[in-house]
Amino acid sequence: MIPIRHPSLTKDHEKFIELVDELSRRFIEPVADKIDRENYYPREVIRELGKNGVLAPILPREYGGYGMDVLGTALSIEIISRYSGSMGILTEVQGFLVTDAFYTYGNKQMKEELVPKLARGELIGSFALSEPCCGSDAAAIETRAERRGGEWVINGKKMWITQGLYADVYLVFTRTGPKEARHRAITAFLVRRNKCIEANPIHVMGIRGTGTSELTFNDCVVGDDDVVGKINEGFKIAMEALNQGRIAVASVTLGLAEAALMEALEWVRNRRAFDQPMTNLEWIQFQLADMMAYIETMRSIVYDAALHFDRKYEDYYAFASIAKLTSVLLGMDVIRRAVQLTGAYGVWSNSKLNRIYRDAKLMEIGEGTNEVQRMVIYKWLSKYLG
Ligand SMILES: Cc1cc2nc3c(=O)[nH]c(=O)nc-3n(C[C@H](O)[C@H](O)[C@H](O)COP(=O)(O)OP(=O)(O)OC[C@H]3O[C@@H](n4cnc5c(N)ncnc54)[C@H](O)[C@@H]3O)c2cc1C
Repeated sequence: MIPIRHPSLTKDHEKFIELVDELSRRFIEPVADKIDRENYYPREVIRELGKNGVLAPILPREYGGYGMDVLGTALSIEIISRYSGSMGILTEVQGFLVTDAFYTYGNKQMKEELVPKLARGELIGSFALSEPCCGSDAAAIETRAERRGGEWVINGKKMWITQGLYADVYLVFTRTGPKEARHRAITAFLVRRNKCIEANPIHVMGIRGTGTSELTFNDCVVGDDDVVGKINEGFKIAMEALNQGRIAVASVTLGLAEAALMEALEWVRNRRAFDQPMTNLEWIQFQLADMMAYIETMRSIVYDAALHFDRKYEDYYAFASIAKLTSVLLGMDVIRRAVQLTGAYGVWSNSKLNRIYRDAKLMEIGEGTNEVQRMVIYKWLSKYLG
């Protein structure tokens, strides 16, 4: 595999990289194909990662994490995704979108009881924001939480929810005021798995085995203790989680691109065409050189965005979007070239490249599409237009 070298990495990061790689080889590699082919949800792998603090490494050790920073978490997601993009997304959703959100915004009980179990993989969590009506325009969501006799009653539908089929707890974003109030009338709730929630599978072309589902909430009753953060301030929780999630998705794409380059290298090294090894052909060498240059560019952008978070720079959110957009554009190009270099082998259903290609496409959509990242970046840029 391509060595991970970067001036910003500390000895702790390097030690952590070794641990994640060792766990990935031991637990993820043997089931990576099965996850994709059989849409197999790797519950036992999630537990193993959780036991070792690798599921939500950003959390302190006493909460089940590894005490890593955002950069360390990005590194772990990159390494895991070299073996399986699905596992990369599962750790991202469980660690960043759900567990860290409960840790940061949840009340004392959520933090003490729920968070360590989520971090250790003893409980599974989902982040339920997108709906049939709206994904990019998340401020338009329609799932409602209504006040009835001192309780909250939730009704509505969510779409594309990772781990939705298997979750024990859901972080659900609901409307708690008029639709016109948009992001100012959205509240986040903890909803435990319950008969009032109907979960139906959705089959997607990549990132399979992640329990993607449609969720219907039918009169789900929750209390004031289940509010995450404050009433009508849930949108900020969603956006903050997604800012970190964008770095994570950029890391998944980096891991997928690295794996694609290794597959292509292995192939051309052993392939002959026109009486010579393919690696003698300058066109092939130049393709491989471009791919390596793009991967190192992706690495710099992703680690740089993580450092913006860790150092609490004011514009960290814009760098998360820049990292996500650039990483998926370059990563898709690397992966497309890897498939092309390997000819029909690359599109064979038995090849790892075919899985990587399908997984990567979803990275242009989840955690905000390329267009949404451009909207964030342009809004940030427009500050300088005067
Ligand atoms: C692998 C995967 C996992 C996911 N997991 C989750 C999850 O766990 N929880 C969750 O809540 N959601 C999840 N999602 C949903 C994801 O967040 C949405 O798919 C995404 O935000 C896009 O929303 P949409 O699919 O409704 O597309 P739409 O918002 O309908 O957009 C359709 C197209 O129009 C473009 N578009 C929209 N508005 C504009 C505009 N103003 N200008 C230009 N172009 C525009 C979009 O970029 C896109 O290309 C997941 C999606 C994927 C692929």
